[in-house]
Amino acid sequence: MLSAEARSAGAQVPFARMDFNDPELLEELMGAVRQVAERGAFTLGEPVEELERELAAYCETDFAVGVSSGTAALELALRALEIGPGDQVIVPTNSFIATAEAVSAIGASPLLVDVDPDTHLIDAEIVAAALTPRVRCVIPVHLFGATVEMGPIAELAREAGIYVVEDACQAHGAREDGARVGSLGQIGCFSFYPTKNLGAWGDAGAVVTSSPRLAQRVRLLRAHGERPRYRHRLVGATARLDALQAAVLRRKLRRLDGWNRQRRELGAALRRRLARSDAIDLPATGPERLGSDHVYHLFVVRCAERDALRAHLADRGVASAIHYPTPIHLTEAYAHLELPAGSLPVSEMLARRICSLPLFPGMTEAELHQVAQAALAFAKAPATADVDLAG
Ligand SMILES: *Cc1c(COP(=O)(O)O)cnc(C)c1O
Repeated sequence: MLSAEARSAGAQVPFARMDFNDPELLEELMGAVRQVAERGAFTLGEPVEELERELAAYCETDFAVGVSSGTAALELALRALEIGPGDQVIVPTNSFIATAEAVSAIGASPLLVDVDPDTHLIDAEIVAAALTPRVRCVIPVHLFGATVEMGPIAELAREAGIYVVEDACQAHGAREDGARVGSLGQIGCFSFYPTKNLGAWGDAGAVVTSSPRLAQRVRLLRAHGERPRYRHRLVGATARLDALQAAVLRRKLRRLDGWNRQRRELGAALRRRLARSDAIDLPATGPERLGSDHVYHLFVVRCAERDALRAHLADRGVASAIHYPTPIHLTEAYAHLELPAGSLPVSEMLARRICSLPLFPGMTEAELHQVAQAALAFAKAPATADVDLAG
């Protein structure tokens, strides 16, 4: 049931906003799609090559290679590094399942690790403790848009002789220690799933790297190992980026920094407003750590009574979501790893408490206010109840 207050306001705050809500952008993107359609060249080709040049320049790497999804980006990155059966890859269990799936898909084993209780991300200490002789690579995930402290991980990886593949699928454009995410390991991986900070009109992804050899290998792997036509140099896949998606992404890439600026401002504003809540913990971030960044792909708070909070928000017209309800090691898909409940306790605690609040470029002051007021009202409820009981 809607409260009288919410009914009279009548406003609903969506969880995210799609491109059709921006008529000017929609018009431009329809024009780009029309151009591709009129040329009739739908796979790879000019729009993909242009996007790759622009994305590499944006990420401050020498190369970018467009692929069919973020998961494909991770898979091909690992294959380009010649990781495969018998190898282990360190993956945080506090991530979207795709990070682990990419490792499994190439026949290697994800070595799932817990995250730091303060940042909710992995760090060099966690990686060091997990090393085994079979570990060939670590995949730091810049989860929710918050950057992992990469310097110590890169140093440790060099000493240990393992690779670093960044999962930057939630942090397009963020900077860690002054450098763009994606440029801090051997290969960086991006997803352009529609709701990401840079989203296509379907599935799309990319890898970025400054190694000509690795870029060349990913180029071969994404298209049947083929170069030139019908000379197949290695066993590859169909994992090309569509020209339609590239044409859309090129236009949106020009707006990414502006959108991220809005996300940072909205994130800071929500943090300020929710700071006095005693029932809700603010997103763990690093803005406190020098050199860190947060581009608020998601604004994730924690609350002991998370499900009650979500119901309360829904009553006030505020959408919410859970990212993610089950840590990777407790999913059915990864039951075979035999990591029981209790084995990676920080991530398990987070999965019970986290709640993602609406935050998206173009969010109005009124929407921000509605989210903050609704969340703060929940925060006050337990105290009021105490008073009532005492009275
Ligand atoms: C979205 C995402 C992926 C996978 O991307 P797809 O394009 O959906 O395959 C991988 N890792 C993380 C952290 C993601 O958020």
